[in-house]
Amino acid sequence: MINLAKSQRLVVKVGSALLARDDGQLRTDWLDALAQDIAALRSTGTEVMVVSSGAIAVGRRVLGLARGPRNRVLRLDESQAAAATGQVQLAHAWQNALACHDVSVAQILLTTDDTEDRRRHLNARNTIATLLRLGVVPVINENDTVATEEIRFGDNDRLAARVAQMMEADTCVLLSDIDGLYTADPARDDTAEHIAKVDAITPDIEAMAGETAGDDGSGGMITKIEAARVAMQAGCRMVISDGRNLHPLQRLADGERATWFLPQGEPQTSRKRWIAGSLNPVGSIVVDAGAAAALARGKSLLPAGVTDVEGRFQRGDPVVVTDVDGKEIARGLVAYGSEDARLILGRRSEEIEGILGYRGREEMIHRDDLVES
Ligand code: GLU
Repeated sequence: MINLAKSQRLVVKVGSALLARDDGQLRTDWLDALAQDIAALRSTGTEVMVVSSGAIAVGRRVLGLARGPRNRVLRLDESQAAAATGQVQLAHAWQNALACHDVSVAQILLTTDDTEDRRRHLNARNTIATLLRLGVVPVINENDTVATEEIRFGDNDRLAARVAQMMEADTCVLLSDIDGLYTADPARDDTAEHIAKVDAITPDIEAMAGETAGDDGSGGMITKIEAARVAMQAGCRMVISDGRNLHPLQRLADGERATWFLPQGEPQTSRKRWIAGSLNPVGSIVVDAGAAAALARGKSLLPAGVTDVEGRFQRGDPVVVTDVDGKEIARGLVAYGSEDARLILGRRSEEIEGILGYRGREEMIHRDDLVES
C-alpha cells in the first residue's frame, strides 16, 4: 500500500516481546533479519532511526530478577536497575547486528523533556540529525534510569511518535505482535474486522482500540492510537504491523496486512506550525535589509545579518525576528543564548569560534527552525 523505500526518514519501533524471549534472551536471528531490512532501506536512501524496547526484559534476566512467578511486576527502582543493565546489552546487540552491514549505531536515551522542552528538543534534534547525516542509525530508548513516573513516556509507542515528530520523519513503523487495529478483539470475537487505513482518530477508532488487547510490553492498542494521533498531527504516517516473523520491514514493504494511519499534512509544515503556533517569544533579533531579504527567500539567519539582540534568552528559546524598523518578519528557535548572540552579531560565521571559544552552529537561526510571520 505504501512504498516504504520511498520514505526519506523512517522511525521503526521494536517491542520487547519481539526482541527478547520470555526468559530475557535476545532473539538474535530475528534481530539480524531486521538489521538486513534496515540496511536495505538505507541503501535506497531512507534514513532510519530505531526506537528499541527490551532493556528491562533483558536486564531483569541478567540481574536475576527473572520472571519467577511469571510476569512479576518489578518495582520502579528494580525496573530502572534492569533497564540500566539491559540497555548495555541491547545497544551491543544492535551494534553487532548492523555492523554486519557496515552500519554504525549510536545510543540515544531520552525523557519527555528532551522532546517537549524546546531548549532540549533542539539539542536532541541536532544530535540525531547529525548522526543521520553521518550515516549512523540512532538506537533510541527511554532513559529509564532517570525517568520518574511524572516524566516518563512510559511506553515506546509514544516515544517513537515523539521522535518522529521531533525529527520530521515521514513514516513511523510500530512493530508489534498484532497486524493492526480491529473493530473488536480478534482473539475473542470472530466478527472482528481488520482496519487497513485510518484517516482520523475518531471516537469510534478509540473505542475499537479499547477492545483490542494484543500486546508486547507496556503499550497496548490504546497507547498505539495515542502515538498515531501525535504522528498524524506531525504529518507523519504511522503503521502498526505484525513484526513477529523474520524480515518484518521487508514483509511490510511487500504489502503484508497492517493498519496505516495517514495524516493530512507534511512533516515539515507541521513542525513549522508547532514553532509558530505555540511560541511565547522571549526576545528578539533585529536583522539588516540583506538578511531580511535572505529570510524571505527561505535562507537561514546568519550572525552577519544581525544588528541587535533584545531580551534575555537561552539557546533553543523562541524569538521574534524583526527588521530595523521593528516590524516582525519571522519567528524561530535561536541557536545561541542572548549573551553569545550579542558577541557574534554582525560577525562572519567563521569568526564564531574565535569569539566564543567554541564552535557552535553557523546559523543564528537555522531555516528549519524559522517560520516567516
Ligand atoms: N523502555 C522500556 C525498555 O526498554 C520499554 C518500554 C516499552 O515496552 O514500551 O525495556
